Amino acid sequence: MNTKPTSRIIPYIPGDGIGPEIMEVARKVIDAAVLKAYRDPNLVEWKILKAGQIAFDETGEWLPASTLEAIRRYKVSIKGPLTTPIGGGMRSLNVSLRQMLDLYVCLRPVRWIDGLPSPHRSPQGINIIIFRENTEDLYTGIEYQVGTLEHTKWMDAYKQALPEDYARLPYPKQCGIGIKPISKPNSQRIVHAAVDWAVENKRKRVTLVHKGNIMKYTEGAFLEWGYKEVENNFTSTTFTRRQFQIMVNEIGLLAAEKQKSELLAGGKIWVDDVIADVVFEQLITKPQNFDVIATTNLNGDFLSDAAAALAGGVGISPGANINPQTGTALFEANHGSAENLTGLNKANPSSLILSGEMMLRFIGWTEAADLIRAGLTETIRKKKVTFDLAEQIEGASILGTKEFADQVISFIRN
Ligand code: NAD
Repeated sequence: MNTKPTSRIIPYIPGDGIGPEIMEVARKVIDAAVLKAYRDPNLVEWKILKAGQIAFDETGEWLPASTLEAIRRYKVSIKGPLTTPIGGGMRSLNVSLRQMLDLYVCLRPVRWIDGLPSPHRSPQGINIIIFRENTEDLYTGIEYQVGTLEHTKWMDAYKQALPEDYARLPYPKQCGIGIKPISKPNSQRIVHAAVDWAVENKRKRVTLVHKGNIMKYTEGAFLEWGYKEVENNFTSTTFTRRQFQIMVNEIGLLAAEKQKSELLAGGKIWVDDVIADVVFEQLITKPQNFDVIATTNLNGDFLSDAAAALAGGVGISPGANINPQTGTALFEANHGSAENLTGLNKANPSSLILSGEMMLRFIGWTEAADLIRAGLTETIRKKKVTFDLAEQIEGASILGTKEFADQVISFIRN
């Protein structure tokens, strides 16, 4: 029998829209897997936390301090999607949670499961892990709306400080402004986390994705700081494209290629970079070439949805927000609250179920995590899926949210 882990309290935020429906069944799947793996029904004690509309209706706050405190205290939690309040003063609860808890790693694995629909002709072997920076970039939400006092102040100050640059602005009085901060410490720590993970998980390639050809001092700086971080901290485990370039200049292309092959055959991880738009092209033409990706916040947001489409779409794409230093981790479905499906027992709970699998792996409950993956894989292989997948799989039977989860549980039990 598997070694039984110590019991723990796991806080959860049901979320808005389809959140409560998919959270309820995801918890059942997790419970079934834990019970099967360790034969103890009391290992997980679920603790509900308030956030989003439910919290606002009950307490007048979208994100009560007690919720943040519990996430910090219990370290590992799981959440359903939260609707962004309109006109509530808070830009996005999800962004706020990540920033307030400094969960700087947004981890988004994209792995094709046998039987999943994919627009790619041969999706076998797609297994990409995206490390998206989670705390800065345009997501700081520093923006100035045309016609406001802040906008006028900003424009006046800019005109005075840098008149030549101001003169390059198109229609200064009719031009919204957003600030894109990309810092050295935050760039270094996300790249560090990605390479660290790649080393630990014996991956072969880490690609830094950026748009540094156009945004030189933000995206370009991310790339520069990222390479430096790798070259200063991972000398024995990586070989970078920049080091290769130096080698080419010193000993010539053929000799450098030979040395590179030997280094990579010896287990070193190849660290290179690809411009963001080219990554989108290559994700479609040769997704199997990607392994681990480290990127800035906005690029990561776009890329993770595009990559998810290769392996079943957002309904089956899990995620986690992690601070590797404090060990705080908040697992979540990547999609939103899908109000159009709320209360219909139609939503695909796979994204949250797989986030649960990630969560169990994170706390070392590997046997239970393996059971969830096996149960979900078998359900999909048998073509018993929710409507979003069924419409893309020939001969599939359509199951509701609850029935789909029950099917996964029955494969876990048997
Ligand atoms: P959405 O992800 O809710 O919906 C986009 C499309 O995907 C819709 O057609 C929806 O029906 C479908 N979809 C989403 N989840 C599905 C599932 N589990 N099964 C089947 N189909 C699914 O995106 P949106 O409409 O842009 O956002 C709705 C709200 O959610 C907004 O307030 C947004 O801010 C918020 N949001 C929250 C998160 C989060 O909590 N992490 C992420 C994205 C959006």
